Amino acid sequence: EAAIRIEGLHKTYRGGKGQPEKHALKSIDLTVPQGSVFGLLGPNGAGKSTLINILAGLVIKSAGQVSIWGFDQDQYPRQSRATIGVMPQELNLDPFFTPRGALEVQAGLYGVPKSERRSDEILELVGLSDKAEAYARTLSGGMRRRLLLAKALVHHPKVLVLDEPTAGVDIELRQMLWTNVRKLNEQGMTIILTTHYLEEAQEMCDEIAIINHGEKVAQDSTANLLGRM
Ligand code: ADP
Ligand code: ADP
Repeated sequence: EAAIRIEGLHKTYRGGKGQPEKHALKSIDLTVPQGSVFGLLGPNGAGKSTLINILAGLVIKSAGQVSIWGFDQDQYPRQSRATIGVMPQELNLDPFFTPRGALEVQAGLYGVPKSERRSDEILELVGLSDKAEAYARTLSGGMRRRLLLAKALVHHPKVLVLDEPTAGVDIELRQMLWTNVRKLNEQGMTIILTTHYLEEAQEMCDEIAIINHGEKVAQDSTANLLGRM
């Protein structure tokens, strides 16, 4: 069974006033193997965020099939959502929550029983233990990113999706994110990340799909596609 199976996925955004509609994804077929670190590569506007937001259940697809860990998204919306955790690109966090509070709320949203909540462990993993009680509005951009990663992990997802996790971050945070991704993958989590940095894909990913103008133009092992550094 694949971690993610996508068949014939289309997404059309309807245009605003006087704007044509936008075909953001066209006939995407994509299979992500369980246990892999999978890269979605492509220039700005290629459709990467749209694809991820469909996986996350945040954007409604126009056509096609998506299943997550064998759960068809249309037939099993709750199960397919519970299987995936998403670290979004935007740094919007409620300014009046602390990291610990934000994780509690997130765990509540996903119905994680109190006995299975691991806030301290997760805060430790992302390096936020010292800031557990600080209001989000006082956190730096880097710390907000750490918190977004932490929030994506509270319900122990089988698949972790990171949308441009290292865009514009400093080298220390990039190293931390890469280390965390490797650690989580070693523990068995399937990872999907979008990036427009070739070297990041080369460094991190076992397999890569390249999308451009809403179409998948290639998919192969990293070694075959880019060569190892
Ligand atoms: P609606 O008419 O349903 O509101 P719109 O197309 O006007 O749909 O926009 C929906 C949302 O998507 C808005 O928040 C808008 O800012 C955003 N949006 C619109 N066009 C783009 C685009 N090209 N890229 C990214 N976001 C967009
Ligand atoms: P990427 O993440 O690869 O940069 P996106 O998925 O954000 O690509 O965008 C794909 C295309 O869809 C772009 O042309 C973008 O402008 C358009 N788009 C994204 N979101 C919306 C929206 N809400 N409404 C209209 N167009 C959108």
